[in-house]
Amino acid sequence: MSEERGLLTHEPAGSAPLLDTRSAAERAAIDSVPKGLFLGGRWRDTPATLPVLDPSTGARLCAVADATPADGLDALTAAADAQADWANTPARTRGDILMRAHRALLADTERLALIMTLEMGKPVPEARGEVAYAAEFFRWFAEEAVRLDGGYLPAPTGGSRFLVTKQPVGPSLLITPWNFPMAMGARKIAPALAAGCTCVVKPAEQTPLSMLALAAILADAGVPAGVVNVVTTADPGAVMTPIIADPRSRKLSFTGSTAIGKILLEQCARTVMRTSMELGGNAPLLVFDDADLDEAVEGALAAKMRNIGQACTAANRILVQRGIADEFAQRLAARMAVLPMGRGTEPGVVVGPLIDADAVAKVEHLVADARRRGATVRLGGTAIDGPGTFYPATLLTDVPDDAELCHTEIFGPVAAIGIFDTEDEAITRANDTPYGLVAYVFTENLRRGLRVCEALDTGMVGLNQGVVSNPAAPFGGVKESGLGREGGFTGIDEFLETKYIGVKV
Ligand code: NAP
Repeated sequence: MSEERGLLTHEPAGSAPLLDTRSAAERAAIDSVPKGLFLGGRWRDTPATLPVLDPSTGARLCAVADATPADGLDALTAAADAQADWANTPARTRGDILMRAHRALLADTERLALIMTLEMGKPVPEARGEVAYAAEFFRWFAEEAVRLDGGYLPAPTGGSRFLVTKQPVGPSLLITPWNFPMAMGARKIAPALAAGCTCVVKPAEQTPLSMLALAAILADAGVPAGVVNVVTTADPGAVMTPIIADPRSRKLSFTGSTAIGKILLEQCARTVMRTSMELGGNAPLLVFDDADLDEAVEGALAAKMRNIGQACTAANRILVQRGIADEFAQRLAARMAVLPMGRGTEPGVVVGPLIDADAVAKVEHLVADARRRGATVRLGGTAIDGPGTFYPATLLTDVPDDAELCHTEIFGPVAAIGIFDTEDEAITRANDTPYGLVAYVFTENLRRGLRVCEALDTGMVGLNQGVVSNPAAPFGGVKESGLGREGGFTGIDEFLETKYIGVKV
């Protein structure tokens, strides 16, 4: 598809032209990605396209297809038509294809990481890490594909037997966010395919390239036509609503904000569709006065700065016990102050751009609000002039609980530190949120550590560690952070139905 062809109906007026300052390697990486819709094993051009921007410069990288609702339903038809054959493909064959995808992703790491950095902004080393994380889901679920269990039981009353088996739920809709543009898709596609489900994937509008590149790799790895379909669109509601309403769709797996997740849950209720929801977070990070302070600082740095603070798992509220609060803040500020900021392609950069100008405006607003309510800015605190949408590493102390940033995802490199006195107080304040994705606890006291982990209302806890994501572990939240778990031994169950057959003997 030519980038310049078609009606650029969704281009904002006066939008940035393609910049010539991109290096040959960057241009080659962007040019290597197919830009069409991936439907039934073919790439489809569309009359309208939508631009993909580089958040570090504001330049337009390219344009990708912009699906109509009819295109979306074609994707569902392709998935529905491929469902029976894929479900009947031996699990070992499905697993072999996923394993080939795992290897192909790793072999292509440099190109994929560059594409991801260009469209999303994260530094290249983090992008490499995300490619490895994505690839690992394919290996994990290649191994899980052949381990589905079942059962054969005598009825307690006698006279019959229970046969219990698992079957693929059917064509699945997978909707993903911009902040981990490949891994969030891999975390859904790999278990869906392992379970024998076909799928329609809708990546985020701002970061479609990583998913389009992944789709091409999956096709090369041997995923049959129609098993994975990708739809990019500037109007997700218009395109996805008819697909969700269609009874051929049997499952929605969504990663994104709680607000959109609630809208989708309502839509799914109309056909009682199975759902998995990986939604927003408001992670507390608790540092007790018996913590190993070096470990706590490094853990807080990882939990805060990963992905430039734009992660559902980001430490949103850092609560430190009074006796060590000053020293902890000083040490964390010292670590954050030396993190190089810049374009993610530059060597050594840790703090890349935020995804767009709205994200910067939101962070500016939250920092201003916290200051107004009594917080002290110890580092950063002022947005950087463009080009690009940068906000510096920022550290606030004495953040009161009524600051807005304690109740909403900051989604930026802002560490907000508050003080607590007792364990009970720390737990009560940590749990005082409608979210419940993850929490972090730093203490050298094992009893306290386990006690606090059990008392926290979250799906995951990092005990003396600032990163919890692992394909072999069950990832997910409670309360308004979501439903279901991705990865781990139960990740494949999200795409399986349990069937019981009563047998008269
Ligand atoms: P978002 O605005 O909720 O969007 C997520 C996806 O939903 C995008 O693909 C978006 O398309 C699509 N979408 C929006 N409206 C829709 C509609 N009416 N119907 C169907 N699809 C629709 O979230 P985001 O800003 O991309 O991502 C950040 C959020 O994701 C944060 O809240 C973060 O915590 C959460 N997140 C959670 C996890 C987790 O595992 N729990 C992981 C990562 C991120 P467009 O891009 O076109 O708007």
